Formats: sequence, structure tokens, C-alpha cells
Amino acid sequence: TKTIMSQRLCLLGATGSIGTSTLDVVARHPDRYRIQALTALRDVASMTALCERFRPAIAVMADASAAAALADALGPDHPTQVQAGEAAVVEAAAYPEVDTVVAGIVGAAGLASCLAAVEAGKRVLIANKEALVVAGDLVMAAARRSGAVVLPIDSEHNGLFQCLPETAPGRAERSVNDVDRLVLTASGGPFRTRPVETLATVTVAEACAHPNWSMGRKISVDSATMMNKGLEVIEASRFFEMESERVEVVIHPQSLVHALVQYRDGSTLAQLGRPDMRTPIAAALAWPARIEAGVEGLDMTRLGQLDFEPPEPGRFPCLGLARAALESGSASTAALNAANEIAVAAFLSGEIGFHRIAPVIEATLEGMTHAPMSDLEALLSHEQSARHVAGEHVRRWRQ
Ligand code: NAD
Ligand code: MG
Repeated sequence: TKTIMSQRLCLLGATGSIGTSTLDVVARHPDRYRIQALTALRDVASMTALCERFRPAIAVMADASAAAALADALGPDHPTQVQAGEAAVVEAAAYPEVDTVVAGIVGAAGLASCLAAVEAGKRVLIANKEALVVAGDLVMAAARRSGAVVLPIDSEHNGLFQCLPETAPGRAERSVNDVDRLVLTASGGPFRTRPVETLATVTVAEACAHPNWSMGRKISVDSATMMNKGLEVIEASRFFEMESERVEVVIHPQSLVHALVQYRDGSTLAQLGRPDMRTPIAAALAWPARIEAGVEGLDMTRLGQLDFEPPEPGRFPCLGLARAALESGSASTAALNAANEIAVAAFLSGEIGFHRIAPVIEATLEGMTHAPMSDLEALLSHEQSARHVAGEHVRRWRQ
């Protein structure tokens, strides 16, 4: 029998949708994976249950009062050491006793810990697309310096990764030399066929009810506006170093084909699977091996029809805004992401209507100048300014 070296994991965003799917896969392979560190923002009840079940060495709550409540709930004799604060989350990502980090925090809030894991040379599985949208070039450059193996979890990017050739055997990098274009599929979300003039009155519950995927609230709203696909075009461009024109989006309502790679000889390779994040998570966790993920393969005779159509620009203005930002540069994409986070939070809290999300982002980008910038400090200060500008536009359109 072959001995498998077990991977020691740190899960950033352990209580979220990605965290939960990751732990589901991990629990199927106790010989392969050991949970070393878990982090979350403030969900004490979920974190207590995870610490009881997985007994990590460290559990971090970014929120200090939540950390105190977690320490109370676990009691003094529990093997898990509880830590508090954002700096402790970043430290956990670079913890020497960790081999593999799953970046599953939502939003630009996950950038610092994702970058710390990459700089520490970990194997880093990235779900946190906003980190790549804000500073993807810096993350990828840091990986080249440290030798970190960076793997995508976002289903489309994981599908692309699976369809692209390796640059060298055993290396995670993928070559795009012979590739004509990368194609990302999008379900079109819950409002693909809803009359556009009724989008002003959609409720939070309607926007969060995705037809095929069950996910956190922020990414669910992004899927409804299709900003999610816009962020993913930027993510693909940064991750695979492909220009905007060569990253295409096609609507595919069944969500069974996740991505396609078109080669210059006319061949197209596609990755298919059920809309279940455990598949791309397992593919990234075990890469280059394959492990059981708790997901059934497709029965081709029962798939029925697979439909593909171009997205309607009038229905999904966020897609065009994201593409324009990508073509303008890093400062624009950082500002786009910041404005989107502010607009989505304002929609989720009932401050603005769904149809105001795109205008808040557009007005924010138009009201700023986006000079070329390549260092992290400059990008972070630019994205902070974008948050302030977006907040002003939210007040203007507050209902
Ligand atoms: P979620 O809201 O369900 O979970 C977010 C997690 O991050 C939680 O554990 C939360 O405690 C933690 N968190 C939130 N804010 C934080 C902060 N400021 N500091 C520290 N921790 C914080 O989100 P999700 O749906 O799991 O998405 C996570 C990321 O993965 C997002 O970037 C999303 O775009 C991406 N993603 C998700 C899916 C999916 O199926 N859910 C698919 C593809 C990509
Ligand atoms: Mg995706």
C-alpha cells in the first residue's frame, strides 16, 4: 500500500458556503487532510461546531467579541487555541504548520490573507475571486517569487485549468500559447428571462434564489446582475494571463458545462459536471490526483438539452462595466470591485433598488481617474476612495 502524505489545511472563511463544501470533501478523506486552522468573521455557533468536529490547532475570529464568545463556548480544556482579529487571520494563512490554504473569504477583505499565503509559498486554492480582481497581477507575481502553487476553485476557472495544457509536467501553471480563446459559461441567474422593466422591484429573496447553485448572499446577487461573470472575466484574465478579447462569456442556463478552451486548430475542450462546488474543490485539493467528492457523474443519456446563447447587454450592464474596467487597468478593476461591494451591500440592506446597482458602479468609475498603478498600497488606497465615492452615489439613490 502507498502512504499518502497528509496535507495540513487552513480554511479562510470556514463557516461560509465554500468553507462548508470544502469541509464536506475533507471529511471524506481523513487520511489525506487534517484541519490545522479555521477562520471566520463572527459566526460563533458554526465555528464552535466546527472546532468540536475537526479540532484544529487554531481558530480565528476576525471579530474580537466573537473570538471571546468562541473561547467561552469551547472552554479552557479544548485543544483549539482561539485567536482574534484581522491580523490573526493573515497570520493563520502563513502559519508554518500549514501546507495548503483555501481562500474562501468573500470580498476584498480576503486579499491580505490570500496574499500572505501565496507569499509564504503555500499551496493556495483560491475561491476569493475579488482578491484576484483587486490585485491579481500582484498575487500571481508573488506566486512566481515564492514558488507557491496557486489553483483556482471558482468552477469556471477550475474547468479552464482542467482543459488547459500544463507548461511542464508536475507544475500547476497552464500554458495558453496555442489557445485561441477561453469561454466561461454563465447561467444568466434568476432574472435571465424576467422583463427588464420589472427589475426595479425585485426583492432580496428573489435576487438570492439562484436557479442552479446554492451560494453566499453576495455572490448570489452578483450572479443576478451578472457582475459575477464580469469579475470572472477579470479573474480569468489575471489568472491565465489572457487579454480581455480572448475571454468570452456565453449563457448556458443548465450550468452543466462550466468552461471551454478553444485551440487554434479548431478543437474545443469543455469541462462538464453537476453544479456542485465540491467537484472543483476536490479537483484543486487533490491536484494532480482525483478523489471522491460526494458528487455523482453526469448521465449523458439523461442530460436533455444543453442551450447556449449570447448575454443581452441591456439586461446585464454590469458585464460591460467589468470588461471596460479590465481594459482600462488594475486601478479600474480595484475600483469596480469596491463600488460593487458597496452597491450590493446597499441592495441587501434595502437602501437601494436592484436596478441601481449598475448605475452606482458606473457613476463611481466615471467620477474617478484611474492612473496606472502596480503597488499594493496605491491599489488599496484607490479602492478605499472608490468605496467613499460609491457610498455618496448610494445616498443619492437611496429609496
Ligand atoms: P459566504 O458569505 O457564504 O462565506 C464567507 C466566509 O468569509 C464566511 O466564513 C465569513 O465568516 C468569512 N468572512 C466574511 N467577511 C470576512 C472578513 N471581513 N474577514 C474575515 N472573514 C470574513 O461566501 P461564499 O459564497 O462562500 O463565497 C466565498 C468566496 O468564494 C467569494 O469570493 C465568492 O465569490 C467565491 N465563490 C463562491 C462560490 C460558491 O458556490 N459559494 C463559487 C465560486 C466562487
Ligand atoms: Mg464561478
